[in-house]
Amino acid sequence: MKAVLISTLVLLSAWGARPASAMEARGRIGLVEFSGKRYVRLEDWAAANNFGVHWLQRDESLELTNHFARLVFMKDSRDAVVNGIHVWLSHPIVLQNGAGYISELDLNTAVRPVLSPPKNWKGSPVRRIVIDPGHGGKDPGNEDGAHQEKKYTLLLAQELCDQLNRAGFKASLTRTTDTLIDLPIRPDIARRRLADMFISLHWNSVQTGKSQVKGIETYCLTPAGASSSNSGGEIGDARTKPGNRNNDKNMFLAYELHKSLLQNLGTEDRGVRRARFMGVLHGHHHPAILIEGGFLSNRAESGKIEAGDFRQHRSEE
Ligand SMILES: [Zn+2]
Repeated sequence: MKAVLISTLVLLSAWGARPASAMEARGRIGLVEFSGKRYVRLEDWAAANNFGVHWLQRDESLELTNHFARLVFMKDSRDAVVNGIHVWLSHPIVLQNGAGYISELDLNTAVRPVLSPPKNWKGSPVRRIVIDPGHGGKDPGNEDGAHQEKKYTLLLAQELCDQLNRAGFKASLTRTTDTLIDLPIRPDIARRRLADMFISLHWNSVQTGKSQVKGIETYCLTPAGASSSNSGGEIGDARTKPGNRNNDKNMFLAYELHKSLLQNLGTEDRGVRRARFMGVLHGHHHPAILIEGGFLSNRAESGKIEAGDFRQHRSEE
């Protein structure tokens, strides 16, 4: 995983190195309300942004395409597909009577940051990256027999940190030994080090369906007022967190790293998701994401995590 992360971070280090896609809205797009939320008619947004609209199945699934992108939306679903990658929305898509609607919040915080990447000020590239190995000390994280999550998050973080420093970044870890760093302290560590970016590394687990459930989930902070899409799925908290000032960059970073990991590791796409994980997502004043890199509870994936296949890149061995 480390080489995949590094190559993507190098690509992202100038934020928005890709050319801006056709996302400039032309003309006025009207708003409608569903369940008290502001929604935009997808056909209007598509016309303003040079997308074609096609029903894959009338009132069930809708596809928007242009030369740059393909978006697929499903009725009543928060699971959207953006250029082949699953992105969990804050509010469900509405498809009815031959028309489609997406929440204004999702256009601004999920679709736009991916299709029209945010940019840093000129001359202020990403340099300092704080990597957070999840758990530690008396908190083992997820466990699979004798194998504890905290051990493998630290191994991955150490390898990634070394590689990033060799690639010219200033990378550091929130912990370098088997100790517990209190969650609220982790953003403070990153802030003191003037971090440009914070990446928390974890390995996942389930109690039921162990042989079926596998793949990668990448998290960024839930927008204010929206429901999260982690397994707890906590519902709307209207308060704006410090991390919400970077909603655009959080999503762009999460999406690009998630896509790169999927393409290189060939594992299952469980989506770019939202959470308000304390200490690792919402208290940050710089872009922050959390990667669940695979399931310790799945025998095939835990074997790769323990053997290093999911932590190291074949070409580097
Ligand atoms: Zn964890």
